[in-house]
Amino acid sequence: MIVPLVPNKQLPVPAGVCILGSTGSIGTQTLDVIGHLAPQFRVVALAASSSTDLLSRQAALHVPKLLVCGPGMSNLVTAPARSRVLEGNEGLIAAATHHDVDIVVVASAGHSAIEATIEAIKLGKTIALANKETLVCAADLILPLARQHGASIHPVDSEHSAIWQSLDSGHSVIERLILTASGGPFLDWPIERIASASVHDALGHPTWSMGSKISIDSATMMNKGLEVIEAHHLFGVNYDHIDVVIHPESIVHSFVGFPDGSQIAQLSHPDMRLPIQFALTFPRHASSPCRRLDLAQVERLTFRSVDPDRFPALALAREAGTQGQSYPTVLSAADEVAVAAFLDGRIRFGDVVPLVASVIDDHTPQSVEELQVIFDADHWAREEAGRRVRQLAN
Ligand code: MG
Repeated sequence: MIVPLVPNKQLPVPAGVCILGSTGSIGTQTLDVIGHLAPQFRVVALAASSSTDLLSRQAALHVPKLLVCGPGMSNLVTAPARSRVLEGNEGLIAAATHHDVDIVVVASAGHSAIEATIEAIKLGKTIALANKETLVCAADLILPLARQHGASIHPVDSEHSAIWQSLDSGHSVIERLILTASGGPFLDWPIERIASASVHDALGHPTWSMGSKISIDSATMMNKGLEVIEAHHLFGVNYDHIDVVIHPESIVHSFVGFPDGSQIAQLSHPDMRLPIQFALTFPRHASSPCRRLDLAQVERLTFRSVDPDRFPALALAREAGTQGQSYPTVLSAADEVAVAAFLDGRIRFGDVVPLVASVIDDHTPQSVEELQVIFDADHWAREEAGRRVRQLAN
């Protein structure tokens, strides 16, 4: 029996916010949301690994106590007189554990903020989680710590936020989770054409505008596979009780099924500011400038099942999640290398998922008892994936 980690902690007003990855898509939208919610939140710390110009502009506007940039980059940051500038991993940890911080928005890429996230959890701080790797790779470390220290994890991803919003305060047992997926740009392509799709084709996501890595992951549906793994950990539901349904309009963001047969869903236009805001204002739905949904105008919401031949990444991710240990880390790292190689024109779209599968096949799993296991598995998977990319590119 898995114990669900349903968040239950309300933030103080005003709440101190730390944003790890403040210059990325989720980071900038979080600052936008905080601007609308002022004065309920104050920005205590901002961290970005690059984009020092944007970080400097954000600092001028929000005057945080701490600013964190990449190693050796502090001379490129223009900081207000009251802000301290720190660098690298030590800076991230100082930001996430600052005594004025109540909630840490983890919107950074990869494993860069994993240590800072763990240190914040040890202090019982609330985590608004947008980074996928945290739970996909490190759930075995993070979840016991969060329980031990009473830290709440608030999902930021639209699907997990929808599930969270649809729970009846955790009173009932969840029978099923049904995650929605847009189906991406290749939903209606002839299957035999997908393998040779161009980068331009694969980046053309129909409903969400996102970074290029996540757009390719949506085209393969690896993104949904990683979200299934996250949902398993966040809500304590076994993999065989988590379904995915294709919903091209991206209006219903996911469903929860209860034992009496009812299903509760959350609906809105696709806009990440909504789940970001709910992660900050939980349990309250505060006012927001997000566009209102008029279902009569939408007219039709359609759903269909996932064709496993068209989207083999979903079963691959589900299997890696079920096997657990270091397998999800290898899945995620090999996928990152394969997607980068596709975006660079070195491999075909149709090579991405088989390449990830072949790296997984060769992996000897380790149980994740410390961070080093994740770093080692990640390194191994990148090397192996890189080797396969070179073979395919020749
Ligand atoms: Mg999502």
